[in-house]
Amino acid sequence: MAAARVIGVDLGGTKILAGIVDADGTVHETVERPTVTTSQAALLDELASIVRELPLDGIDAVGFGIPSRIDHAAGVALGAVNIPIRDVRFAEEMQKRLELRVEMENDASCAAYAEFRLGAGRGCTDMLTLTLGTGVGGGVVSGGRLFRAYTELGHIVIVEDGEPCQGACSGRGHVESYCSGSAATRVAQRVLGPEATARDLVEQRHPALREIGHHLGVAIGSLVNVFGSTRVVIGGGFGIAAFDQLVPASRGAVLREALAPSGQSLEIEPAQLANEAGLIGAALIALEGA
Ligand SMILES: [Zn+2]
Repeated sequence: MAAARVIGVDLGGTKILAGIVDADGTVHETVERPTVTTSQAALLDELASIVRELPLDGIDAVGFGIPSRIDHAAGVALGAVNIPIRDVRFAEEMQKRLELRVEMENDASCAAYAEFRLGAGRGCTDMLTLTLGTGVGGGVVSGGRLFRAYTELGHIVIVEDGEPCQGACSGRGHVESYCSGSAATRVAQRVLGPEATARDLVEQRHPALREIGHHLGVAIGSLVNVFGSTRVVIGGGFGIAAFDQLVPASRGAVLREALAPSGQSLEIEPAQLANEAGLIGAALIALEGA
């Protein structure tokens, strides 16, 4: 039988957010702390201590959303860009520390699943999310189920031999190189001056956002051809702030690249669950893992 209450944890590059979540997705009590990046062991200990700060009565599972690719068959978190997680049996390590059942999933997949169940994805069976923040995260729901693969949608090529990607990624021309908040800041510096940021582009409704929207449309058109999604949910700080400017500018490329009729009927919606999506999704996965 599924547990009625679990703890969801969203491990981000700068902060950790943990909270108690009911079976219907209601978040009750949350704790937030800065992410410890000194070592992997210190980070795992810190995660356990944050979970223990919450009342554990009646809790029988903890779900972690972590910014890492995950090998589910081997139970290994393979590696993250900004935090010390590498080749670790993450769920097993946390289980040892907490003596509770532990489930883990990629953070962007958690956010996608939360939007599907409780946010902008409700009512459809095939959707994907693109989270435009510092980087670009992605998640896919196919036939009503979370697609539990890498789904690193930010690292597909949209411009052959294009701009270099960010962080530990050696690729070029990736979605993240053109559509992330960091990429938008680089555009802002080019068109507005060295102090400018993505925020300035959004506040000025700058025409340079149309170029970013076009790149986003190219990405969406190709992704829809692979996954057959009928709805795309755009999240992330930059994605939400610039949504009204990016999405109209993306439509031409979506129509051109997506095979008919998917481009015409594709819905593109803003994410609804804001910064609790990752926590809620991790909790839902823990609830369903019972
Ligand atoms: Zn990349």
